[in-house]
Amino acid sequence: MPTIDLPTLFMVSTALFVLMAVMFFVTWRQDERNNAAMLPWAGAHFLGAPACVLLALRGEIPGWLSIGVANFVVLTAFGLTVAGALAFEGRRFGAPVIFGGAVLWAAAVPTVWNDFSLRVVLVSLLISTHAFAAAAIIWHGRKREPLPTRGLVAILFAAAGAAHLARIGVIFQAPVSESFAVLGRSWVAFIGVQILMQEVLLGYALLAMVKERAESHQRRAAEIDTLTGALTRGAFRERAAARLEAEPRRGAVLLFDLDRFKAINDTHGHAAGDRVLAEFAEVVSGRLGAEDLFGRYGGEEFALLLAEADVTAAWRAAEDIRRGFALRPISHAGRDIAATVSVGVAAVPLVESDLDQLVASADAALYLAKQGGRDRVEGTTAPALMSPRRRAGRGSR
Ligand code: GH3
Ligand code: MG
Ligand code: MG
Repeated sequence: MPTIDLPTLFMVSTALFVLMAVMFFVTWRQDERNNAAMLPWAGAHFLGAPACVLLALRGEIPGWLSIGVANFVVLTAFGLTVAGALAFEGRRFGAPVIFGGAVLWAAAVPTVWNDFSLRVVLVSLLISTHAFAAAAIIWHGRKREPLPTRGLVAILFAAAGAAHLARIGVIFQAPVSESFAVLGRSWVAFIGVQILMQEVLLGYALLAMVKERAESHQRRAAEIDTLTGALTRGAFRERAAARLEAEPRRGAVLLFDLDRFKAINDTHGHAAGDRVLAEFAEVVSGRLGAEDLFGRYGGEEFALLLAEADVTAAWRAAEDIRRGFALRPISHAGRDIAATVSVGVAAVPLVESDLDQLVASADAALYLAKQGGRDRVEGTTAPALMSPRRRAGRGSR
């Protein structure tokens, strides 16, 4: 078996830890708010360097340094790793997360100092607890925010935890004396190689995960209208078309255009107009089903795809929204604003299940609603039972 040159191995590890720490720190600096996790992770990697040096010098420097201080540093690094995982999920953390393990170790030192096995068990348990905690935190976050590399990161953290648990097993299978641990260089080499691989893989995976989040934020920014939270026109069209293709037997498109919106802007100011747009979006969002899509189609025009609706359900939803918006009290800068909306409805199967056809039909209906006096629902292909007169008869206004 080829021998590994230990000083070289630990020098490479130490240099890599510093390099990674710098990379993480630079990434944090680029976007401190969104990359909050990178600072504690930079700290964890930075501490990896002295930890490596101290571990490499085991037997050549006093024990209180190479064991006492080294384990304190390693456990603080793992504390920072957990803190980084929490920060990545947008959760708060305090000093106990960072220093808890290290302080426990320091408190236990007088008790375990003379028992090599007990020391290994304690440190390994503390480290694996941290590693499993980090794995669980990252894995748990996938429901809220699925990212492709989450699984890999969780597995690598869990593997680190498992490796340290395995160390306990090894100790009890074949108890090693402390002098063996010092002199048995293959044992140290094994740990050295393991640290190196973990470091490279984890460092890569963490950076990839942070980059994935940044990309998904950018994608989201391009798809969501900031004022109303509705989909942008492009995103709405893309998703609605796909949706209609996937399930062509149901679905309806509603087009909305706020009434005399220019007058609202002119009377109350542009900010008030913005407020009205946001209020309208609130009214619609409160009625959205999981499969429905809501988009801002233009300035004060919105589109809604009701994925599961038939003609009757589409009309009912349109009427609900129209009335809900008309009755909604809106005030801006201490002044009440009256606002209404006109709606055009087009539903499958009266209209072909094709986005362009549905939008064209809904648009024509919207025109009718404007012509008919605004604050009303129209549909060019609505069955007679849902004519405007019948709707008025239902006492909706
Ligand atoms: P109608 O009832 O016929 O729809 O009349 P309208 O005044 O709503 O129609 P028009 O299309 O003439 O006016 C739309 C106005 O919407 C004009 C534009 O300044 C305003 N607008 C478009 N986007 C925004 C926005 O983001 N914020 C605000 N405050 N106003 C906007
Ligand atoms: Mg308009
Ligand atoms: Mg308008």
